[in-house]
Order: sequence, then structure tokens, then C-alpha cells
Amino acid sequence: MATQFLIRTSYKAVRLAAANHRSRTAVRAMCTAKGIPTNEEQATGLELRALLAQKKGKDPYSIFRPKEYAGTSEDPHLVPSIGDKRLVGCLCEEDNTAIVWFWLHEGNPERCPSCGSHYKLIHQELPH
Ligand SMILES: [Zn+2]
Repeated sequence: MATQFLIRTSYKAVRLAAANHRSRTAVRAMCTAKGIPTNEEQATGLELRALLAQKKGKDPYSIFRPKEYAGTSEDPHLVPSIGDKRLVGCLCEEDNTAIVWFWLHEGNPERCPSCGSHYKLIHQELPH
């Protein structure tokens, strides 16, 4: 009887010690010396490339909100393209239901035939 009690008690003590060791290990893994890892430390692959490009002020995958331009000759809408021309659609006014389409060629800034906004094509390389 005393032996069974001793075995049961020591078994519980060993299980409790193992559980404490596991939980301490997990806590230690989550809280490294630097604290919680940043997005850049956790990111891999395409996400990491996008974050590193963002640090340099670039947006190779067009995932961030585009910058707004005035559309004047001094501040034209910049249209990125991998080729030497691109089809552009201008909505002219916010509530318009029809889009005005026209071709934009590299080195030749164009104006929208309807509203007169200025557009300029800029060459962009593919990120890979
Ligand atoms: Zn327009």
C-alpha cells in the first residue's frame, strides 16, 4: 500500500516537472532576447522582397495605394509600363460611368481627350 502511494506520488511529480519544463521552453521560444519578431524577421519569399523594396521606396508588385497626381503638365499622372506603350482609361470625373480610353506612348506625354488631364508613361522593369 505504501509502495503504491509512493509510486503514484513520484509519477505525478515527474509529470508535473515535465509539464513545467515544456511550458517554460515554449515561453522562452516566444520571447527571445529581442522580444516579439518584427514583420521583416518573420516574412519570407515574395512578402520579404516586397517589404525590402518598400524600405527603399519602391513598389515592384503594385500592392500599395498609388500616389495621387494633379494631372497637370507639371505633375502628370505617371503610368508604369514594361513596354513602350500602354492603354490608359481615364474616369475624368468621380461620378462618370463611362471610361475614356486612349493609348499612351513612352517619351510622348498625352492628354485625356475628354478632360485634358496629363499622363506620362514611365518604364518599369519586372521585379524578377
Ligand atoms: Zn479624362
